[in-house]
Amino acid sequence: MAMKYVQTTCPYCGTGCSMNLVVNDGKVVGVAPYQRSPVNEGKLCPKGVYAHEFINSEDRLTTPLIKKDGKFVEASWDEAYDLIAQKLKSYKPSELAVLASARVSNEENYAIMKFARGVLKTTHIDHCARLCHSSSVAGLATTFGSGAMTNSIADIAESKCIFIIGSNTFEQHPLIGRSVARARKNGAKLIYADPRLTATGKQADLYMQFRSGTDVAIFNAMMQEIIKNGWEDKEFIEKRCVEYDALKGEVMKPEYSLENVEKISGIPAAQLKQAAEWYATSGASSLLFSMGITQHTTGVDNVKSTANLAMLTGNIGRPGTGVNPLRGQNNVQGACDMGCLPVVFTGYQKVIDEAAHKKFSDAWGFPDGICAPQNGYEVTIMLKTLNEKPGELKGMYIMGENPMLSDANLSHVKEAMEKLEFLVVQDIFMTETAEMADVVLPATCYAEKDGCQTSTERRVQRFRKAQDPPGQAKVDWQIIAEVAAKMGYAEQFAWQSAEDIFNEITSLTPSYGGMSYERINKPEALQWPCPAADHPGTPILHTAAFAPAMPDSKGLMTAIPFKYPAEVPDAEYPFILTTGRSLFHWHTGGMTRRSESLDSEVPTGWIEINVDDAKELGIADNEMIVAKTRRGQVNVPARVTKDIMKGVMFMPFHFVECAANILTNDALDPVSKIPEFKACAVTVEKIQEA
Ligand code: SF4
Repeated sequence: MAMKYVQTTCPYCGTGCSMNLVVNDGKVVGVAPYQRSPVNEGKLCPKGVYAHEFINSEDRLTTPLIKKDGKFVEASWDEAYDLIAQKLKSYKPSELAVLASARVSNEENYAIMKFARGVLKTTHIDHCARLCHSSSVAGLATTFGSGAMTNSIADIAESKCIFIIGSNTFEQHPLIGRSVARARKNGAKLIYADPRLTATGKQADLYMQFRSGTDVAIFNAMMQEIIKNGWEDKEFIEKRCVEYDALKGEVMKPEYSLENVEKISGIPAAQLKQAAEWYATSGASSLLFSMGITQHTTGVDNVKSTANLAMLTGNIGRPGTGVNPLRGQNNVQGACDMGCLPVVFTGYQKVIDEAAHKKFSDAWGFPDGICAPQNGYEVTIMLKTLNEKPGELKGMYIMGENPMLSDANLSHVKEAMEKLEFLVVQDIFMTETAEMADVVLPATCYAEKDGCQTSTERRVQRFRKAQDPPGQAKVDWQIIAEVAAKMGYAEQFAWQSAEDIFNEITSLTPSYGGMSYERINKPEALQWPCPAADHPGTPILHTAAFAPAMPDSKGLMTAIPFKYPAEVPDAEYPFILTTGRSLFHWHTGGMTRRSESLDSEVPTGWIEINVDDAKELGIADNEMIVAKTRRGQVNVPARVTKDIMKGVMFMPFHFVECAANILTNDALDPVSKIPEFKACAVTVEKIQEA
């Protein structure tokens, strides 16, 4: 068989880089550049370069498995489907919950959303966006009317000033970092705020090191300085925003003076003043953030603060400006767009809205109706319900997620999952979560199917099948359709291809309404909103007005008082622990730890400790120590560095052998229900010899 190239989209981060998979003898053997994508122009970061290595891992699941007497035994698809159908039919809709996936295609997420709401008739559907950018969706939908990145990746290069807070862009979204570097080359200033002097911080013109969890105070101080100096954009505020007086009333309070916020955050007053001036007066400032902003009990407040700052200075709706949440996973934007959230159908059409509910109910044609027009549980609330209200939730269907490593306070997660009466996991590897399942179904990875995904800049791009799946593994949407058919709903899932599903999505989703496979097959694909077949897509949102969802299409400014994190250091746990990722790994490591080249770069986890703290504690670089919080403890090697703030420690969360999420706090933001991964109180000790 001849060697061929198959153009597809990277399966790792939300940047959405295109690449070619090199296929020889029917197997993917490598990655080659695809030059025509406007996103990455042939360039890839290390994860993209080695995105082929896990595909044919010998650990791939190849046959359905059913747990009998505590052990998995191989089963036929029919046996597995019969058991799943019989068990799922035995529960009431409210006793069932579904987790969709930011890893799989839009078509597959749509299929499981329709399955949850139409077949199971449950309102409890969510996915891991809850853990990364649920605060962005909630915060920006409330202020701008749309919970997504306002500008495009290429547009960042047009900025005159880029303010990055809570995002290690150069390592976690390297090809977005390229746009930042281009802007700097053209003379833009880069302001970087983070507790760690990361690779991104090292490129900054102004680096502000701060205590994790003090973001709102920082934004309020910058806004006070801007108003005091008359740098606010009065015309923009007057014409495009509401509630300015309320915002002003809050930020002008003495507690947000530069000197006071220096005490709260640790950022010198002069740096805050400089940041405020550069951001407000550049003419085109772009604000980039990621999970350093969102993963807090004040995550929604933090996001609204980014929106406040941008509106106050008129940095919205023009090239080089915007509020840009950098989404984590390859298709986390798409999974949200596809309605895999407990409150919306596709395109953020509310489940509680009578007209939207009727629209989906009529279009799907389930003879016995669909879920009630009610909001369901978020994944974090599903877990709390399992632990705190025994018997309320009984069955769960998980597609391509691993809460047993990704969620906060893992002992609590394990306790919750053990309370399930019936668990189905559909995945490509035997994950920590799959180990707990009653039935495991072998699914396909990105290289084995057709479909599309939506990147952080709302660009809807194609996956293309490059090889057959291993063993009996099947495409996720096909598995869902076959389970639905077993449960009596073959007609509603009678798709013949991913394209059939995409056509159903576009017919029900106004923001995708003008898209088709023919249109998104082009190298530049399309960015939503794209409401009509002749619409070119939308690289910049809110150019003339905010979204129609906002009253009078105006942006909502919000007064936001500063609150400390749920857990702050004390005598027993005197340090702040924050978590994040490594350049070479991806989330729970399922794919990257099975990629030899990536795993050999960073084979295990670590805890970063400031040099002065390490000296006081008598801890040496590379020494194995024990890290403890109120929720558990892990043994982990110390990485002693000057690059982290004194009093703050950092762990990546990819590594099961030193799982950071045993330590993290599952206290939730009251609106988005995101856990506070980015700040809890920790102590570290030397390991005592036995
Ligand atoms: Fe893949 Fe993201 Fe790297 Fe691009 S920047 S190659 S999308 S991991």
